[in-house]
Parts: sequence; structure tokens; C-alpha cells
Amino acid sequence: MKPLIFFDINGTLITRDEKTDLPFSRSVDRFLDSQGGMEGIDTSARSDKDVFMEVLANHKMQFTERQWDFFLSLYEEELARFAGSDIWRPNADVCPFIRHLFERDYPLALITGELSRGAEYKLRKIGLWDFFIAGGFGEDALHRFGIAEAARSKAKEKLGALPDTLYVIGDTVLDIQTARHLNAKAIAITTGSHSREKLLKENPDYCIDNFETIKSLFN
Ligand SMILES: [Mg+2]
Repeated sequence: MKPLIFFDINGTLITRDEKTDLPFSRSVDRFLDSQGGMEGIDTSARSDKDVFMEVLANHKMQFTERQWDFFLSLYEEELARFAGSDIWRPNADVCPFIRHLFERDYPLALITGELSRGAEYKLRKIGLWDFFIAGGFGEDALHRFGIAEAARSKAKEKLGALPDTLYVIGDTVLDIQTARHLNAKAIAITTGSHSREKLLKENPDYCIDNFETIKSLFN
């Protein structure tokens, strides 16, 4: 079986900039009924729920399922509001790379702290959602390794068995650590939150600036 390739979303499949998370930050502000609720919060490689819990803690509020459900309803509205905008764009040359992998029968899956509803809006917008057979999302676990384990078991269920070789492609140090956690090869891309220097300290198997560089690995 061909290797299974896991992708992170923000900074990897999607260009990450100040607009990427507008639906989330607007939902936070609506939830708090104030402005700037996301200021000073680092969202890199974290689950949406974990970030939301930090927002609550910053405002001395307790997490409850009721608050979370209310927040989710706001988030859904904001995602729908931005669906027609240009805030989500493909990162680097990812679209031809995904097509290259798909045409060669590589199974593709997602590992992301995003809730599946957010991931679907983003990836549908750039035309990539349907290429992925499974994913671990923000609702599967609070932290990255748990999300990655969920992604792996869902992919295994879809494929019947796991291939011998797995890859994890992502833009942060945590993506590299996640690859190690899954016993996968780590491909770090420099188009997101972390610099090449920072990524290299974690010893990824590959460190790339665009996807063309690794196309020949997957033939
Ligand atoms: Mg990322």
C-alpha cells in the first residue's frame, strides 16, 4: 500500500495570515460582547477548544458545555458569512501537489486542531476537501497527539489497514513532534508560523519551502 500522508491545515494547506482566523476571532468577540478577545493568544497548532478555554480563563470564566455550544453556533454563522470571501487561499503550490498525490493513489488525511466544520469550510473553499479520506479534528481531542491518534485510527478504518510508511506534513515544531509520535516521517514546510531555523532544530526528515521540492518522493 502507498504511504499515508497526513496534512496540517493552517500554514500548510491554507495560507496563514491575519485574515485566516477572522471567523473564529469574530465569534470570540461576539461571545464576549467586546473587542480584541484573541489578543495575545497564540493559536499555532492548538485545538479550537483549547484556544476557547484560554479565552474563558483570560476573562475569569468557567468552561461549560452550554457556553461551548453557544460559541459553536456563533462560529457556524461566521464561517458561513466568510465562505464567499477571499480569506482562505491555497498555500504555495499545494493544489497541484495534492492532485499529483491523488492521481497516484496516495491516501491523504488531515491532522488539525480545527473543528471539522471549520476545516470543511476552509478546504471546500480552495477545492481540496474531497481529496481527504479522513481526519483528526479539534473535536476529537484537546491536544495534538490525541487528535493525531484519532486521525490515524479513522484512516485505518477507511483503508482496512495502515501502510508501513506514514508522513506528516506541517508548518510547526508540533507537527514534527506529532510525526514522531505516530512513527511517521516528518516534512516541515517554512510557509507558516515557524522559521526554517526553528523547524530544523527539531530534525524533520525534510524541510521545504514549497511542495515541488518533494514531488519526486511520491511517484
Ligand atoms: Mg499549521
